[in-house]
Amino acid sequence: MSVDAQTREIVAIDRYEQQQLDSMAGVEFYAGILTAGFINAHCHTELAALHGAIPAGCGFAAFGGAVGRLRAALSEQERVRAIREADKTMYDEGVDAVGDIVNDDSSFAVKRESPIRYRSFAEVFGLRTDNEEQCRALLAHPETSLTPHSTYSVQDALFGRVCAELCTAPLSIHFMESEGEGQLFRGEGAMHKWYEEVGFSCDFLHYGSPARRIVASVPSERSVMLVHNCHITQQVIDTILGHFTAPVYWVLCPRSNRYISGIAPQSVELLRRNGCNICIGTDSPASNYSLSMLEELKCFQGVPLEELLRWATCNGADALGYGDTLGEIAVGRKCGLVVISGVDIDSMSLTDRATARRIL
Ligand SMILES: [Zn+2]
Repeated sequence: MSVDAQTREIVAIDRYEQQQLDSMAGVEFYAGILTAGFINAHCHTELAALHGAIPAGCGFAAFGGAVGRLRAALSEQERVRAIREADKTMYDEGVDAVGDIVNDDSSFAVKRESPIRYRSFAEVFGLRTDNEEQCRALLAHPETSLTPHSTYSVQDALFGRVCAELCTAPLSIHFMESEGEGQLFRGEGAMHKWYEEVGFSCDFLHYGSPARRIVASVPSERSVMLVHNCHITQQVIDTILGHFTAPVYWVLCPRSNRYISGIAPQSVELLRRNGCNICIGTDSPASNYSLSMLEELKCFQGVPLEELLRWATCNGADALGYGDTLGEIAVGRKCGLVVISGVDIDSMSLTDRATARRIL
């Protein structure tokens, strides 16, 4: 393979015999398999300073409360330092691009200098908010667009306005991460009870379900990334796919789900059966043991490695709109190169010892 040193573009991919390689100077050999750089389709780098601060298994509602309390206690300096470390760790392990949720501007200084490409989603959040003005200020930063946080945390008019805004960027919506999200629309479950206790009222429950709210609010030609999908059913997939003409990307963050709620990625076979575009995200450093894409992939025992790598590379690149440059080792692309060692070559599966390292 030849790569233009300045632009990082792959200009040729060649095949060599062993004898030719032996006579060439400066050839490096690696044990393992080669892949294009990873695409972390869902992260919250701005929560990097909270890594390890919230205990695993605390549950969905407790986690949300803890994030709000803890992030307010951190200095700007602490936060930026942690974001810089998270960015470097992801790059070294082979991440080329990140779909990153932002609630403030603390991550942008690091992103500006980073070799990683970031698409930032300025997240509209809060049942007591009726406007997106604070988020709109973040749109001055590169490759940043508005998105609603979820179907349960934004009132109707604001949700509809953000979803329908003319914009070529996809939406990135937290979707059916907890069982309570669907139950809320039926007036039952943990989230409904919590909202009653704190006095939140919702003006969107008439849609009947998170999926129906999405199809009623997002134009069919706007691409959408649905993040988590822990509690989806065939009916949910049918409702979503029956509406959208633009691609829908189903982002799975299995280790975050395990960290927060102790649940396994149970929807993956359903998504595969339906031919859905699956992507992989690490979610926030506060809700994961690390930001390792490879560790996320190890959660999907039984899925062929080739398919897993598509989820972690080209599907994510397509979702973020970077499919023409990243996500695949091919002439004309500018992807990084990553060696995965610790692969069982006979079964083409990741062993527990598998590690990923960027070589370009
Ligand atoms: Zn998230």
